[in-house]
Amino acid sequence: MSDLKIGIVGCAGRMGRMLVKQVTQTDGGTICGGVEPAGSPCIGQDIHALAGLEPSGILIADDTKALFDVSDAVIDFTAPAASIAHAKLAADSGTILVIGTTGLSDDAQTEITACGEKTVIVQGANMSLGVNLLAQLTKKVAALLDDEFDIEVVEMHHHHKVDAPSGTALLLGKAAAAGRGVEHDTVADRGRDGITGARKRGDIGYAVLRGGNVVGEHTVMFAAENERIEITHKAGDRSIFARGAVRAALWAKGKPAGNYDMMDVLGLGD
Ligand code: NAD
Repeated sequence: MSDLKIGIVGCAGRMGRMLVKQVTQTDGGTICGGVEPAGSPCIGQDIHALAGLEPSGILIADDTKALFDVSDAVIDFTAPAASIAHAKLAADSGTILVIGTTGLSDDAQTEITACGEKTVIVQGANMSLGVNLLAQLTKKVAALLDDEFDIEVVEMHHHHKVDAPSGTALLLGKAAAAGRGVEHDTVADRGRDGITGARKRGDIGYAVLRGGNVVGEHTVMFAAENERIEITHKAGDRSIFARGAVRAALWAKGKPAGNYDMMDVLGLGD
């Protein structure tokens, strides 16, 4: 069977370079091109060399539509506005799209989800096996405990990160809400400062730390009188996200159009 032709949008970014490396090291997939926005100093550079690999002669371009036209699957770890545009291109060309971009507004998400009617879109706020397992565990623990247990999600990331709480923290908070059978947005407490009053029973709280080069650490706490359960995931490096994203692209081959997530890819559904 021929390799899945995979294009990388944002191929010069931190995740983009990881993705190029991961595809190159994975059986069944091959890099067919990559793009960066027009004017980027990376345009014209060898995509593999920029990822620290042997040069391949495939040069970074700025024609995103052309990339979708030649790719079987495109992987997108860029920025919210870019991911909406990429979802539309995927819908028009019938290309599989794997989106790892976080910080999407509800409106952006609605636009992307609509594109899933025409092509396969796999989205994951965190593409690692470990975090998706953590989400499942969180859902199960939240279902077993009542709201005497206060749920707090604590996350830490490197100082470059632009969105907060992280997409993964929200994924975990939503898993906890689903386990409790409550609507996340009505119980989420996304930031505390000053005289906030006592904690509201049933809230799901978030705490955000930023600093250094921390790849991503998440803890879900269930705190009651005199006892506390904590479940933690620590990412050692970004390759775990790239591995999950490439696995998602290969998994998506031949699937009917629709919106999928990493639970589908990893077979961790209920
Ligand atoms: P980064 O800033 O290093 O890279 C983003 C890249 O996208 C840059 O090279 C930028 O030039 C490029 N880009 C932006 N707009 C573009 C466009 N329209 N067309 C082509 N390229 C474009 O950021 P990063 O650390 O690699 O993270 C990118 C995104 O991935 C963030 O939203 C981050 O939160 C998310 N992320 C998700 C996961 C996950 O598992 N889902 C893991 C890590 C990071």
